[in-house]
Amino acid sequence: MATLTTLNFDNSFARLPNVLFTALNPTAIKSPFLVHFNPAAAQLLDLDTPSAAELSHYFGGHGVLPNSTALAMTYSGHQFGQYNPQLGDGRGLLLGEVINQKGERWDVHLKGAGRTPYSRFGDGRAVLRSSIREYLCSEAIHALGIPTTRALCIIGSKEPVQRETRETAATLVRIADSHIRFGHFEWIFHNKPTHLKDFADYVINRHYPDCAATDKPYAALLNAIVNRTAILMAQWQLVGFAHGVMNTDNFSITGCTFDYGPYGFLDVYKPSFVCNHSDNTGRYAWNQQPSIGLWNLNALAYALSPLIDKEDIMSALQRYEGVLVDYYYQGMQKKLGLTTHEADDNQLAFSLLDILMKNNMDYTRSFRTLSHVSKTDQVCSLRDDCLDRDTFDKWFQQYSARLQRELIADAQRQQQMQAVNPKFILRNYLAQTAIEKAEKGDFSELDTLLMLLQSPFAEHPDYECYADLPPDWGQDLEISCSS
Ligand code: AMP
Ligand code: MG
Repeated sequence: MATLTTLNFDNSFARLPNVLFTALNPTAIKSPFLVHFNPAAAQLLDLDTPSAAELSHYFGGHGVLPNSTALAMTYSGHQFGQYNPQLGDGRGLLLGEVINQKGERWDVHLKGAGRTPYSRFGDGRAVLRSSIREYLCSEAIHALGIPTTRALCIIGSKEPVQRETRETAATLVRIADSHIRFGHFEWIFHNKPTHLKDFADYVINRHYPDCAATDKPYAALLNAIVNRTAILMAQWQLVGFAHGVMNTDNFSITGCTFDYGPYGFLDVYKPSFVCNHSDNTGRYAWNQQPSIGLWNLNALAYALSPLIDKEDIMSALQRYEGVLVDYYYQGMQKKLGLTTHEADDNQLAFSLLDILMKNNMDYTRSFRTLSHVSKTDQVCSLRDDCLDRDTFDKWFQQYSARLQRELIADAQRQQQMQAVNPKFILRNYLAQTAIEKAEKGDFSELDTLLMLLQSPFAEHPDYECYADLPPDWGQDLEISCSS
């Protein structure tokens, strides 16, 4: 096991042409202190739990980790449909890449590390509130079995930071298989096209080595990214996750959930749910996510177009919908506990979603309730949450009849359903409660939430209230981009 000063850094990105980044060290935050540390993410780095003092020192920007080569990456991207030619790491630095004993390479990134040449008008800082939101949600998404960046720790400070109100600065250490975004390719395509091929080779070599051996490695790369993005979108839809800011600079080249801002989980099943208060047109509404995923892939494909034949681009993009829809339907089958497939199963799922929508029923809780149904049940307690009980009863009769045709025993089916239908999700009000306590110096709620979110499928009978519907004050919290 390593300590912070003996991490096994090998910084391949820093060896790329220096037009792709600016090397610089973090700017220290005043009197840093440890807010929270996540041992599960430390394991990825083979890192033993460091002392609070060490964590605050290095990740508060007061020291440079031996063998790290901190840098701000250059990228651009489409924000809300408009091309922004110059983005880049304005408040985060890649500290380096750590190779663990399994041979896995993990980026270590410090978010909130101070101003960089890409900060534009920003202060280079992250606030405690948004750091907690990313910390909790990335761990929640990981535990739901969805690819995501991870979070190692949060460091706090009393240093004031102005947002809509005065807040305090914090840093978040993010661990990811990659910090390469769709926007990296867009920036290179527009600004340094001679580097495009070498950069694509770097991405293939690092993230998609199987593509190298194919006849058309760059077409294979695009295909692979299409595949992973389609699956990611299906996974978000299946758990009711809304990302909130699906700009191409927030899309990872490896198909990970990336850059947590004003995200939200569906409470009631409202497909047009917009979690980002600043998203006036609903561009990134929950039910738009699959098509935005494809929109973003189009932007990526355009940036890769000098390397790939037009027909190959078309065929890669055309595969997206099929991959997404197949994954989604298979996921729905599992959520409903159906191990065999019948022609009407998709309709059964859609009828249920329609009932949830029309009766303002909670997405997560409804599926969890269904996971307790037995083949012999005449009624289901979900009925009580429903206003239109006739329609529900008809649906339940159909579902019940469908379960009769399943050979699998009730107990086994229920267990399988409970392994895909979480009991605990990060509802906004839960994050908000933890944030408000943390802002007063009480980090205990982070312990509880992290514990629940890291095993969201277990029952946790002592924490029943964390699976409750949001209270009135927590139903429409306004979360915006400004973090
Ligand atoms: P985000 O909305 O966090 O995905 O950020 C979009 C772009 O704005 C990225 O280039 C960020 O680095 C930059 N940015 C966001 N917040 C700040 C900040 N407080 N200071 C400097 N740059 C920022
Ligand atoms: Mg971003």
